[in-house]
Amino acid sequence: MGPKFLRSDVTYSLVNAPPNSSQLTEQDVMEALANATALWASHTPLNFSRARTVLSADVLVSFQHGEHGLFCPAFDGAGGDLAHTALPLLGSSQLHFDADEPWTLDGAGETLSLYPSRSRAPH
Ligand SMILES: [Zn+2]
Repeated sequence: MGPKFLRSDVTYSLVNAPPNSSQLTEQDVMEALANATALWASHTPLNFSRARTVLSADVLVSFQHGEHGLFCPAFDGAGGDLAHTALPLLGSSQLHFDADEPWTLDGAGETLSLYPSRSRAPH
């Protein structure tokens, strides 16, 4: 058994719901992930699908606030860092989104279709 990504079928799971500060529902996030992974699949030999359970997922996707783990750089609130990958957890790769970004689906359709809103005025 080597690294999971030597397989061509990669599963992912959303660990937590998007923050209340975002304009997204969990359904919105799942659709954005489905769109993004479909794009990645078209450029790689990988096939992506939603994992049946969180524990069986190859990639764990979550929203995290600020300091959120010993081995992760802290997120910096709205603006700045948007997302990063993190060390594997229980054998699953991790993709973290900054929960303090005002996420929206309003961006003009490019890669991820998951965008921080630019409508919020600085204060
Ligand atoms: Zn992180």
